[in-house]
Amino acid sequence: MQFKYFLLSFIFLSSQLIANNDSLEHISLQLKWTHSFQFAGYYAAKEKGYYKDAGLEVEFIEANSSTNVVKKVLEQKVQYGVGTSSLLLSRAKGKPVVALAVIFQHSPYQIFASAEIHSLKDLIGKTVMIESDADELFAYLKKENVPLDKINLIPHSFNGKDLIAGKIKAMSGYLTNDPYFLNADNFTYQRFSPRSVGIDFYGDNLFTSELEIQNHPKRTSAFLKASMRGWDYALTHQSEIINLIMKKYNPSFSKENIVFQAKQMTALVKPDLIEIGYMNPVRWKNIANTYISLDLLAKDYKISKNFLYENKPINIPTWLLYAFFSGLIMLILITVFTIKLIAFNRKLKKTQVLLNKSNFELSALAKEKNLLLEKLKEQANRDPLTNMYNKRHFAIISDSILELTNRSKESLSVIMIDIDKFKNINDTHGHIIGDKILILLANKLMSLVRKSDTIARVGGEEFAILLPNTSATQANILARKIREEVEKTIFEESTTKISFTISLGVYEFNKKEDKNINSVLHKADKALYAAKNSGRNRVSIFQ
Ligand code: GH3
Ligand code: MG
Ligand code: MG
Repeated sequence: MQFKYFLLSFIFLSSQLIANNDSLEHISLQLKWTHSFQFAGYYAAKEKGYYKDAGLEVEFIEANSSTNVVKKVLEQKVQYGVGTSSLLLSRAKGKPVVALAVIFQHSPYQIFASAEIHSLKDLIGKTVMIESDADELFAYLKKENVPLDKINLIPHSFNGKDLIAGKIKAMSGYLTNDPYFLNADNFTYQRFSPRSVGIDFYGDNLFTSELEIQNHPKRTSAFLKASMRGWDYALTHQSEIINLIMKKYNPSFSKENIVFQAKQMTALVKPDLIEIGYMNPVRWKNIANTYISLDLLAKDYKISKNFLYENKPINIPTWLLYAFFSGLIMLILITVFTIKLIAFNRKLKKTQVLLNKSNFELSALAKEKNLLLEKLKEQANRDPLTNMYNKRHFAIISDSILELTNRSKESLSVIMIDIDKFKNINDTHGHIIGDKILILLANKLMSLVRKSDTIARVGGEEFAILLPNTSATQANILARKIREEVEKTIFEESTTKISFTISLGVYEFNKKEDKNINSVLHKADKALYAAKNSGRNRVSIFQ
């Protein structure tokens, strides 16, 4: 709920910024007695501008022996008051007082008696003056078995001289004030503290009415906060506030007196140990128990929940808090979602880039693979030595050309070629030279045929040329030309010069007789053998 306080402070500060001096709210604080260091914190809050910062103009009203602070606060004559622990009794009587803060952690009330009084029992039969609201002292007397009807209780004159003069034997007094006057007169006295028997009441309390809290929740909170700031300041800057009290509030005090008050008070306020203003519900319960023991409260009395002020000055509607926190959660969720979305998009982009890269690499690989496949396919179709089509591929191509020719009126011829006495060349010059001659012949043949012709190595030193749109006569002319060219060709390597010849067989495709390329080649082969038989280095046409 830290945030709630942050929000409250924010709203509060904003309202203070908007407010100006003219709009200061006038309120009154009814003191419990005349001006003294007992109220130092309130003076400091005013002097240091804490009330002004809170939008308040605070008037301090002194009390006299007849002032009923509770009554004034409840009747709204003043808004705030300084009271004792007897506030609890007022509350029990149905008076809607609310304790805002405890200033004195321990009550300053004590019994001051003349020197011959050694115990409270010694007061039996003696004249004593005790303030009517000094409840803890009545409890003390009861605990020490000093019945009130056995002492001569008279109203308090608030004049310590009555004790010094021996008019009375004991009186209630304030630890912060009375010892100073008694000491000043060199009077020897006894002091009895209710704390010695475990009766430990709170001292001065700041309080208000339920009505004030209901009608002015902000003002209550602001006044309380500013007052506590003032107390913090007063206790840590005592001499400054002492001078202020002497100058502005009670010039009749001697400096020595007021310094004494400050010193005595500091011990009762206990600022080093306890945060100023702190109220412990357990201690209030103990106080209530003391009252119960005095028959001032019913045995089953329970302190009303509303008696102790809870600092919830501005009642922020629950729906507003819900709306605020829902909004905050939504904002956090949206922020987280947006961050995640951005991160996801970044990742997506990175993945996309990687994917594109991979795709690119993949398509490059596919291209490479296709090229390789085509190359392989092409290689499978070719003779590795001469790089000419091999016999298998020649047969495939020739068959499809044959089919085309079958459907047209065009002619088609084949020339079969075989190197003459090639065995001799191999035998004489070796196989490597033989291979080179095969390559030389292949290149020569390829240079002599048309683009539309198909040439292939169909045997060891045998070649076939398929000539579309060519008659036997035309093929014969080409065959003769080839023969002549080859005859003129000389293989040269260093000093070796080899000339060689070829025999050629020519055949024109006959639609009626030839059903496939084998039949065509067979007949061309026959013509070739005829050329061989008739002396080689010549062309023979199939008859
Ligand atoms: P002809 O054809 O004139 O009757 O005589 P030839 O010596 O050429 O006879 P044949 O056809 O019987 O011999 C072919 C020779 O060709 C046999 C072989 O040594 C040679 N030959 C076949 N293929 C290759 C080859 O790839 N490289 C080499 N260097 N020689 C081959
Ligand atoms: Mg041969
Ligand atoms: Mg041969």
